[in-house]
Amino acid sequence: MRNLRKLDPGYGQFRWVVLLLAVAVILPTVCLLWFMNEVVKNERLVVRQKLVTIYKNQLPTVARRVEEGFSGGCRTARQKTRGLDGYRQFRLAVADHHYEGLIVYGPDGAPLYPALSAGDSAITRPAERFADAWELEFAQARYEEAAQRYEQYARISDGRARLIARLAKSRCLRKLGRTDDAIAECREVAFSPLADTGDSSTLVFLANARLLLLNWTQGPPEYADLLAQTYRALLSMLYRSNQAGAALPADQNLFVARKTLQIAEARPELAVCTREYFEDSLARLIAAEEQSLTFIEQFPVAETLEDWRAGTLQRIPSPANTVHYGIMHRDDSGSCVTLLSHEGAGSLLRDYIREFQDIYVEFRLLDDAGRLVLGRAEPANEAFATTSLGQYLPGWTIAVHFRGGNVFEQAASEQIAIYTWTGILVILLILLSGAVAAKSIGKQVRLNKLKNDFIATVTHELKTPLASMRVLVETLLEGNYRDQQQVTEYLQLVSKENERLSRLIDNFLTFSRMERNKQAFRMRPTEATAIARAAAEAVKTKLSRGNCVFETNIPEQVSEVNADPDALVTVLVNLLDNAYKYSDNEKRITLNVERQGRAVCFTVSDNGVGIPRRAGKRIFRRFYQVDRSLSRRAEGCGLGLSIAKFIVDAHAGAISVDSKPGQGSTFTVKLPVMAGRRQGRSPA
Ligand code: ADP
Repeated sequence: MRNLRKLDPGYGQFRWVVLLLAVAVILPTVCLLWFMNEVVKNERLVVRQKLVTIYKNQLPTVARRVEEGFSGGCRTARQKTRGLDGYRQFRLAVADHHYEGLIVYGPDGAPLYPALSAGDSAITRPAERFADAWELEFAQARYEEAAQRYEQYARISDGRARLIARLAKSRCLRKLGRTDDAIAECREVAFSPLADTGDSSTLVFLANARLLLLNWTQGPPEYADLLAQTYRALLSMLYRSNQAGAALPADQNLFVARKTLQIAEARPELAVCTREYFEDSLARLIAAEEQSLTFIEQFPVAETLEDWRAGTLQRIPSPANTVHYGIMHRDDSGSCVTLLSHEGAGSLLRDYIREFQDIYVEFRLLDDAGRLVLGRAEPANEAFATTSLGQYLPGWTIAVHFRGGNVFEQAASEQIAIYTWTGILVILLILLSGAVAAKSIGKQVRLNKLKNDFIATVTHELKTPLASMRVLVETLLEGNYRDQQQVTEYLQLVSKENERLSRLIDNFLTFSRMERNKQAFRMRPTEATAIARAAAEAVKTKLSRGNCVFETNIPEQVSEVNADPDALVTVLVNLLDNAYKYSDNEKRITLNVERQGRAVCFTVSDNGVGIPRRAGKRIFRRFYQVDRSLSRRAEGCGLGLSIAKFIVDAHAGAISVDSKPGQGSTFTVKLPVMAGRRQGRSPA
């Protein structure tokens, strides 16, 4: 092997070639991958920059649209409510889900809504009128007499005074335990037609009468209808003016509304009535009225809000820790402030900003105190641009942020896909050309190695018989021999060496032709037995010598095969020669020919040294020898079986060996019979 390395100049270079090839493939691939990575990164940056420019340019438009949308929306909302009475304005404002309160000041700056009650209770005032009855009822607890006094007063009074006396009477009857009478009396009062025409304090009185009636009728089941009727009557007074344009003052209205809501929560049959009047908005109306009342406490007259520019949205200093905003409307009919919660402001403005939101960016809206009104509390990225809203939302800003996740990836995806596919294609091409180059270099190196092996083997193998012939011939020429018999012996040895030389050269020539693909086979239909006989004839002399028994089992006819008979004779001669070479003293060699189905089988058996299992397949490779020392002794060069295999393969046949070390070997050559040939006769 070492000799081969020395002889083979390409062997050492082979590793370098492989290394260079690997570098030639790996280096550009790695470079390309790095380059692709950089390109992809760069593409993301480019896309980011493009998007930044686009959105920065768009931001003033966004700001303008938000302000325009906002002020337009406010104007429209105001138009709808202008000229209506306070409660209708309030109800309309609250119906718009963004708002949570309303304050309306008249042209003189006094509040129109929420209007507060005058402070003189409709219940307490009559005490002065009906002082004696009042004395009997409250100081002396003489209810019977008090009731009679009230009745007398009722007869001589009219309008609200009569109602007050009747309600007082019903109160006394109730205290006397005459509930039915009390309810009948109270009912008269509560359902008085004054509800449609009375002023606001009459309405407060009636609302109280209705609440009283509601209290008394809640228990006994026979009053269920009256209860519902009273409840409806109460609802009909809320958040509206009567025919005379009077309404409950906001604080009284709020009180009654809370009561009705409480009752409705406990009694489902009454909740139905609430829905009839207010759908599900009563709770919102109550909350909005609370807010409006809180606001009016802070700013009782319009003058206190003079600094507030019309049409602008401002934060309202709130006593509670909540954030509220208001929008100021001002015209010749007075001024009006619509109240918004923090969320309400966000949802109102969201409508105008919505059209600009997309998969790449999100907008955040911050009020003049930098408090977040709209957008995510914790955006995925820092704002890359901001703009301030000035006219209608003074001090407010819009910030634009890139969304989280892989927004740039998405935007750059198409370009990145093109780069990636191009990169993959180029890498595949590099790998492919690397593989092709490796294959062809490998082939060249193998051929080179084969050539060198061949030269080395040929030189070595030819040297031995030539050297021994030269020694023998020189001995004879120098006359160093005893007698004629020794001369004959020496000449026989020379002839034997000569014969060996010819066989070697034959094998080398065949091998050389075979490797150059120059081996031409002259195929023709040939009787298999003729091939076997020719082979047996060729080795007969050698195999019949001394202690060798050579047997043939060749029928007269087996079948015809399409074959080059000379080539196949070479195969069998090689096998028989090996059988002779690799057998010990008592040699028994057999050559068989028989037909097996669609094939003709030639078998060569011996009782020689046999072949180890692991070498079973390798012996058919070129220059392979199981035991070199034995082969050397047996004058082989490891080509015979590879030649045999080459020839058999060219005949579409198969060659195999069955052997056990020490027990001999059987080589089988199987050739397909020619189509349409009959089976031959059995051996004689
Ligand atoms: P060689 O010229 O060495 O005989 P071959 O190609 O004919 O080359 O055989 C390859 C090897 O197979 C031989 O070196 C020998 O070790 C083994 N071999 C071939 N035929 C036989 C056999 N009949 N019995 C044992 N070994 C064999």
